Amino acid sequence: MFLTVFSHLQGVHVFDRSSTSTATTARRPHLLRSVTAGLAAALAIPALVLAAPANAATGTVKVKTQKMTDSTLKSTQKGWYNVGDKLTLVCSKRGQSVQGYFSPYLPNGGWNNLWYRTSDGHYVADVDIETGTNNAVAPDCAQVDKPAPANNNPAPAPTTGAGLRVPLDNVAQGRGFGGSGHNGIDYPTRVGTPVYAAADGTVDFEGYGVNNSWMREAAGICVLLKHPDNYTGYAHLSRTVVDKGQSVKKGQLIGYTGSTGNSTGPHLHFEVLPLKPDFKNGYAGRVDPAKHFG
Ligand SMILES: [Zn+2]
Repeated sequence: MFLTVFSHLQGVHVFDRSSTSTATTARRPHLLRSVTAGLAAALAIPALVLAAPANAATGTVKVKTQKMTDSTLKSTQKGWYNVGDKLTLVCSKRGQSVQGYFSPYLPNGGWNNLWYRTSDGHYVADVDIETGTNNAVAPDCAQVDKPAPANNNPAPAPTTGAGLRVPLDNVAQGRGFGGSGHNGIDYPTRVGTPVYAAADGTVDFEGYGVNNSWMREAAGICVLLKHPDNYTGYAHLSRTVVDKGQSVKKGQLIGYTGSTGNSTGPHLHFEVLPLKPDFKNGYAGRVDPAKHFG
């Protein structure tokens, strides 16, 4: 299965899509009930200030619940999370107040406005998942998505070399290619650090990796660029600023670092693929980026 293609899985929080439970027949699927704006305001629960966990937060779906594109039932539904699904919770967001089935102990009859963005890029209401607490267990999405201040954004390095450009400025390399199947180079850095195209090319894919056969959900929000000689991949971003099919120049801003997907902390995972990858090479087709810099 392709999930293993992106083989630098640092965490253990892999979606278990095979766990769709038969409980949906034994237990009537619960449609989250929405509440009017007025009532939502009356029931609004103050956001709790919690430190971001060192490791990715997780939750287990307790009752079949909507997979939404934002923290409201008014956004687009993209299917369901099923009983037993283990979700990696990237960040939390206050949204529409809804009443959950799995929340008998919640105040206000189970109504709550806490939602989570999962590593597949969709939103799930806290009231239908078990996290062990009613408090937010993942950092606020606004903080996760926030770019670094402009004065911390150094200008791109000169881009005259024939090889690939290191995709970040003034960030030391962390974990390298190889060993335990790590298929790229990691650059630990704060969320919101600018990420630059390693070479001229076109945007082959951008967005949540779950929607791409090469990057997959472990990559979180990612960009895949196609160059004349290879592809470059940029994973665990907080957001991208390019569109599929767009031409980019070496050194052009393509997105910002984050910690989406299977990531234990903010970093860029950078990888290089030949135009025709050998997916059985032990590194999911990836090759050592360090051999292509210059
Ligand atoms: Zn990595």
